[in-house]
Amino acid sequence: MERLPLSCCRLGLDLGSTAAKAVLLGPDDGILETILDQSGRPPAEIADDIARAVRERHAPDSLSTVATGYGRALAQTAARKITEITCHARGVRHLHPDARSILDIGGQDAKAIRLSRDGSVEDFAMNDRCAAGTGSFLEVAARRYRLDIGEVSDFCGGTAEQDPETASFEISSTCVVFAESELVSLNARGTPPREALRAVHRAVARRVALLLKQVGADAPLYFTGGVARNSALRAAIEQTTGLPLRTASHAQFTGALGAALFA
Ligand code: ADP
Repeated sequence: MERLPLSCCRLGLDLGSTAAKAVLLGPDDGILETILDQSGRPPAEIADDIARAVRERHAPDSLSTVATGYGRALAQTAARKITEITCHARGVRHLHPDARSILDIGGQDAKAIRLSRDGSVEDFAMNDRCAAGTGSFLEVAARRYRLDIGEVSDFCGGTAEQDPETASFEISSTCVVFAESELVSLNARGTPPREALRAVHRAVARRVALLLKQVGADAPLYFTGGVARNSALRAAIEQTTGLPLRTASHAQFTGALGAALFA
């Protein structure tokens, strides 16, 4: 493999609760590589493996590494650790200089961030206590209908709107444990799976809307995190909040990108 110019490599690691993400930056801050590790192995092990693989593939003279995310403290390979809020803000503004707010939904938490005109963090709110507003709730619901998480949005037809032909129902619980039992009873009443899943999306959207309201989120609002790939949820959040929600480029990697930019 061609050797890169001296000291060109900056590595950002986002050691999330469900997935580890890495972004390798080359000269001029161009993205050389993105890496997604969903193996569920300990963050320290994943961080070491990614750094080793990057060194083997690109043979840089030096590799400056910053870690963020839930497992960042465990990444010995990273010289600095920086919070996810700061890294997401930096990553999103790098890709979308007009961004004024960010909604990040991962496997176990959701964050709303409001940015100042110059891109610094003005306010943020986080939900890491209740799974009902996060990716894990959607995963639980998907499993119930034997769907892969990546299939759910298409299964819903890309929307969470209620089919006017079916009876009106909502999932009212704010706790995933009770919401699951509501799903069971919807199932028992013969609710079509697509309609039940759309109701799940509307329930997640309502939770997330509270976070956005808490920080006074304003447009342009960008959607990041693995869950940003779910366009039915994006549509539901837009409908609930009345705010247009744009999916960020490299949506699952913006935290890792921000970390790389700090490296
Ligand atoms: P974390 O940083 O908390 O580990 P991520 O931002 O990496 O989380 O996102 C992981 C979440 O994204 C998981 O809950 C997963 O189900 C969800 N996800 C991944 N791919 C998709 C997809 N194609 N559609 C919807 N959700 C997805």
